[in-house]
Amino acid sequence: MSVPVLLIHGGAGGDGPWGGPTKLDPGRIDCMTIILQEVGRALERGEISALQAVTIAVQIMEDEPLFNAGRGSVLDAQGDISMDASIMNGPDGAAGACAGLKNTKHPIALARHLLDNGWPVIMIGEGAEEVGRKAGLDMVESDWLKTDLRRAQWSKWQATKGRPGSTDEDDNAQSPLLDHDSEIERAPAGTVGAVALDVDGEMAAATSSGGMTGKPPGRIGDSCLIGAGTWADGRVAISCTGIGEAYIRTAAARRFSDLYELTDMTLADVGDRVLEEVAPLGGRGGLIALNSHGEFILPFHTTLMYRGVWANGRITTDIGPDSTREKGKS
Ligand code: ASP
Repeated sequence: MSVPVLLIHGGAGGDGPWGGPTKLDPGRIDCMTIILQEVGRALERGEISALQAVTIAVQIMEDEPLFNAGRGSVLDAQGDISMDASIMNGPDGAAGACAGLKNTKHPIALARHLLDNGWPVIMIGEGAEEVGRKAGLDMVESDWLKTDLRRAQWSKWQATKGRPGSTDEDDNAQSPLLDHDSEIERAPAGTVGAVALDVDGEMAAATSSGGMTGKPPGRIGDSCLIGAGTWADGRVAISCTGIGEAYIRTAAARRFSDLYELTDMTLADVGDRVLEEVAPLGGRGGLIALNSHGEFILPFHTTLMYRGVWANGRITTDIGPDSTREKGKS
């Protein structure tokens, strides 16, 4: 019997000092708190497995328009939505992933459906959505997924000719006069993820993202790639966030597992190493990870990472740099 743990993130991003919470941040914190309360409690009672916990946690964050996943996903260069998601079960290595979704209300539900089916592991675009439709998953108009905030960030991205992702975390995009830091080049934020350990000592990981504002149509990020943005096995579970290309090139999530298995490094050291390896490739970001003993870390090399922990019945949420830098016992 293990003591369950649930970690969630709502994306990492930003360069330079943290300016404190924006007026939209309380909504993000409330969403994370509800998830940690409800899903954490169910995990503790043994009512749900780690796999169920990460599915539910990510699905609720996909429903929160303030995160960059599901409704509220950022817009690509043409102003369209295209969403990526993946999920992995530690005990048997079962996985499901999907990319380029435009009408699926909950991309993580489609990834989970593929995991449950066993084959194929990853599907893209219309073919993937046809499978979701046949499975009875909720489908929506693409326009419904586009929020005013994301439309404003997209317009600002177009006007400033920024690099992809540069306006993703601009909470003031709708009211330019209030925007004091629109000139700051920022990394994307708002991708969501969860990792969990259940009472049976089993782990799972899940990640879902709309990618980066202004990405070229057809671009696929790390969030839907098993081994890059998501990984779970019998030792660890990991969900990553940051500029996906660097996480893909370093196979970051699987790299985490290998370093943890094959070296004497602590969980915290492995987390730092993985982030140090993605950084030179332009991939500043963060990750959440835990092991089968319930030790956990939530490191990030960006200005902020929306993050939350449920452990031993205690809930912690945070956004900017934290002096305590939540760590488990590692
Ligand atoms: N990793 C995501 C991507 O590159 C973005 C993010 O985590 O914010 O698509």
